[in-house]
Amino acid sequence: MARVFTLSSGSSGNCAYIGDAKSGILVDMGKSFLRVKEDLEKNDMSLENVEAVVITHEHSDHIKGLETLCKKTDIPVYATEKTAEKLSLQSEIIEKNLHIIKSCEQKELQNTKFTLFNVHHDAVDTVGVRVVTADNRRVVLSTDTGHIDDGIFEYLKDADLNIIESNYDSNMLMCNVSYPFLLRRRIASNNGHLSNSDCAKTVLELLKVGNRRFVLAHLSEQNNTPEIAFETVRLCLDEAGYVLDKDFELSVAPRAEMSKMMVF
Ligand SMILES: [Zn+2]
Ligand SMILES: [Zn+2]
Repeated sequence: MARVFTLSSGSSGNCAYIGDAKSGILVDMGKSFLRVKEDLEKNDMSLENVEAVVITHEHSDHIKGLETLCKKTDIPVYATEKTAEKLSLQSEIIEKNLHIIKSCEQKELQNTKFTLFNVHHDAVDTVGVRVVTADNRRVVLSTDTGHIDDGIFEYLKDADLNIIESNYDSNMLMCNVSYPFLLRRRIASNNGHLSNSDCAKTVLELLKVGNRRFVLAHLSEQNNTPEIAFETVRLCLDEAGYVLDKDFELSVAPRAEMSKMMVF
């Protein structure tokens, strides 16, 4: 059985455990080392269960706890070459744990396999992650992407669980005068973040090809609410004739706290 939970999700920090009861990977380390340790313990797990940390890109909300993790453990950290370069420039301590991996190549750890794939974001080389657990459960995490193209969709389909970005509500973003115009344009661009409605369209396409389980992730604190993100997606699926909890499962990853563990 796969075990998946997010430890935090959004612009203030991102970290997710994807694996099974024996071991798995952490995708991103955007939460303090201590809090990650505590969260794992709350689920009767420990850092011993973490085979590797995979870093999707170098933005601070994805690497906040990484330096301390590398200082205190030998857990391997995987990133693409360009991201690894950025990370080693930031810290020699991180460099010690770094392993470079090419996107589109599958990496087999002892228990878990994963493949990185490129997404569209304004970091040096942002990736999403497709994970296959020991008993062949497929989990795909794709956040920090301005849009989902056909190439990305290939990695998203046939998943037992999709953790997908639902960053902002377009109206809230456009009306948010506390955000400078250029920042709003950056977020809404093809290389920024995915809106609730674009997320809903992608989830609908994924449902049509057989995906059933979805977690909405990386919600903006200023330009979204869990209720709006959830309802935007649910309504879009409802209009297409799909019924919540019958045809699909949908939840929202909490921003600051750990989510419930999903076991499937
Ligand atoms: Zn980012
Ligand atoms: Zn981010």
